[in-house]
Amino acid sequence: MRTPRGADRNLFAQRRAHHHTKKQRMKPGLRLQILLLLGGLMVLSFVPLFVAVATYTRVTLSQLRIESARSLGRAVAGHVLEARARRTPDELRSLLDAEIGAHGVDAIGVYATDGKPTLRVGDPMLVDALGQPIDVNREALFEMQGSHGRAIAVAVPDARGLVVAVVRADDISSRATPLVRLVGLYTGVGALALLVAAYFALTRLIVRPLDTITRGAQRVADGARKLEVPSSGVRELVELGHSLRTMTDALVAEEEALRHKVDEVEAATKRLAEAQDRLVRSERLASVGRLAAGLAHEIGNPIAALMGMQDLLLEGGLSEAEQQDFLKRMQRETERIHRILRDLLQFARPGAPQDSADDSDGNVETAIYDTVALVSPQSALKDVELAVDVHPELPEVTLSREHLVQVVLNLVLNAADACADKKGERITLSAAPHDSGVRIVVEDDGPGVPETVRGKLFEPFVTTKEVGKGTGLGLAVCRGLIEAAGGSIQLDEAHPGGARFVIDLPAS
Ligand code: ADP
Repeated sequence: MRTPRGADRNLFAQRRAHHHTKKQRMKPGLRLQILLLLGGLMVLSFVPLFVAVATYTRVTLSQLRIESARSLGRAVAGHVLEARARRTPDELRSLLDAEIGAHGVDAIGVYATDGKPTLRVGDPMLVDALGQPIDVNREALFEMQGSHGRAIAVAVPDARGLVVAVVRADDISSRATPLVRLVGLYTGVGALALLVAAYFALTRLIVRPLDTITRGAQRVADGARKLEVPSSGVRELVELGHSLRTMTDALVAEEEALRHKVDEVEAATKRLAEAQDRLVRSERLASVGRLAAGLAHEIGNPIAALMGMQDLLLEGGLSEAEQQDFLKRMQRETERIHRILRDLLQFARPGAPQDSADDSDGNVETAIYDTVALVSPQSALKDVELAVDVHPELPEVTLSREHLVQVVLNLVLNAADACADKKGERITLSAAPHDSGVRIVVEDDGPGVPETVRGKLFEPFVTTKEVGKGTGLGLAVCRGLIEAAGGSIQLDEAHPGGARFVIDLPAS
């Protein structure tokens, strides 16, 4: 009994597991999700940080460079102004030539008070650009494009005009690069370290306890009685584990109680079936008693005759022919008694091996003639005609022969009782095919079923007979047997005159 239940459970678990894996395949796991989320967060927070730091570094460096270019330019301009006062133009040119290249100075231009250039040395591209007249009244700082790249020009005015010193500025980015790289490396390593730390922390706090709960639940589904719960992790998950365990315990206890109840119900059902079996058997024995009582005459008379003939034979003086005649009659009588007793015994001993292995099981015709053999010696039927009408081609039915005989016998004995009381004359027993099964009808022309019992005829202990004659179980047992075989039994209420019982049995 446990096996199918267990199998069901396994099937259920398998189906659930299947469902589970399908879902798992569709969705990325928590670990991957956490990793992606953390990665996204790190990128979102550290990339702007890196960009900000790198930009700040570049800007600061570029300002520093401009600042230093400005001071360098001023220094050069000051130097030139000083020389301009005391040297000849040729001397000044060679002095300026000497300045080019030193400290990153790429070109120098000297201007008169009207803003026109008087002397230009250095990078030809820059010298070209310095060819324009210049506003000599104020100090200025501007960018220029030299042959080596970007350059910063510093214009410093004085009483005789203006000096422009052009300083290289293109190495700012190359100077900044290592620093920016360092910043990048630090932010990258920092982000990675944070990511790893956060990942492990979250895994320990959330993913592992969840895994424990999932595994535990799977084990319970596979038949474990206790849910394994996580001992560490975030408080909510530990609490969830405990709640689930409480729930599982309750469910397991309930299942146990249910199983216990089912076992009890099964035992009760078994007892009930046994009681029904006993009822059927005792009803059969009651019929045997009724039959035996009805046989008193049928057996008593031949025995008296036998004894008379026996006496005559013993006295002697009979002719050979007379003796032969007596012996033959005695043989007939003995055989008759033997046959009656054999039929009765066979009916009284249900389920005997030769009966149950009988291939006439479910054969209505055989059962009806067996019943007729049992009832015909009954004294109650001496004054009643028993008409039998059995269709020659009946299908076999779902009721065993033994039970068929019990049912038909009961109806015929009831009919005989009714006829004997009120002088009925005829009992008709018929069987014919009906609705792919067999219909058996037992009909008598007695007084009919009394009004008082009509509505509850098939209930147990309903009888109009005096104590000792009827138990009120006959029709109840008949209905039990017939309905168990999928058939029905009814009293034909519309039938005028005596009682008419109709049995429908499905073909087997
Ligand atoms: P029992 O025969 O022991 O009384 P049954 O259940 O066989 O129990 O019958 C119940 C009652 O139905 C009988 O007491 C009788 O009153 C009525 N009954 C059954 N068959 C007939 C019949 N053929 N004619 C009239 N009454 C009947």
